[in-house]
Amino acid sequence: MKKVLIIEDEAKISRFLQLELKHEGYETQIAEEGRKGYSMAQTGEFDIIILDLMLPNLSGIEICRRLRSEGIDTPIIMLTAKDDVSDKVTGLDVGANDYMTKPFAIEELLARMRVALKNNDRTNTAAVIRCGKLVLNREKYEVKYDDTPITLTKKEFELLSYLMMNKNIVLSREQIVENVWGYEYEAETNVTDVYIRYLRSKIDEVFGTSFIKTVRGVGYQFRDEEE
Ligand code: CA
Repeated sequence: MKKVLIIEDEAKISRFLQLELKHEGYETQIAEEGRKGYSMAQTGEFDIIILDLMLPNLSGIEICRRLRSEGIDTPIIMLTAKDDVSDKVTGLDVGANDYMTKPFAIEELLARMRVALKNNDRTNTAAVIRCGKLVLNREKYEVKYDDTPITLTKKEFELLSYLMMNKNIVLSREQIVENVWGYEYEAETNVTDVYIRYLRSKIDEVFGTSFIKTVRGVGYQFRDEEE
C-alpha cells in the first residue's frame, strides 16, 4: 500500500483527501501545520506528499526546499488556493513535482499522483548502494553490515548515504555540509567532524572496518572495504 502524507491546515480539505485516497487504496497520514509536516516528511517513509502552500509555522515552499536540500526525493504535489503563476514557478523551482490549484477535481489529483509515483519508481532503481558488506537502502532507510542492521539517526543516514554515493572521491567539509545539511549550516563545517565521529563509532569501530578516511586539510573519503 502506497503511503501518502497530506500536509494541509484546512481540515475540510485534508479529511476529504484522506477519504478519497483511502477509497483508492492509499494509506494516509495528515499533518495540519508546517513544522509537523516537515518532520514527518523527513522520515522518508512516504511514497508521495501532498503539500499545501500556505501553512502555519512553515510554508509549503520552505518545506519543499528543505526536503530537497536534504536529499529527500519523495514526489511532492503542491496545492494552493491562489491561482498565481509566480507561486507555481517557485514551487517547481524548489523541487515540487507537480502543482494543483484549489479547488481541484479529485480525479485530476489522482491522475497526477499516479504519474509522480510512476516517475519516482523509475529513478529509485539505484536506491540500494553497496560497499563491500555494507549495504544502504535509501528507500527503506536501512543500513546493514554483513546483514547486521545498524541504527542511525536521520542525519547520520543522510551523511552516510552522501558519502557512499560519492565513494572513493575526496569530499571537502564544505561540500558535505552543503549537500547533507543545506546552505544554512555552511558556516558550521565542524558539524561534519562530529557526525563522522558518530558514523565511525557505529560502523568502523563496531565491525573493525575503515570505510571513512580523514584526508588531512581537506575533508573525508569513503573507501571500499577491500581497498
Ligand atoms: Ca492552507
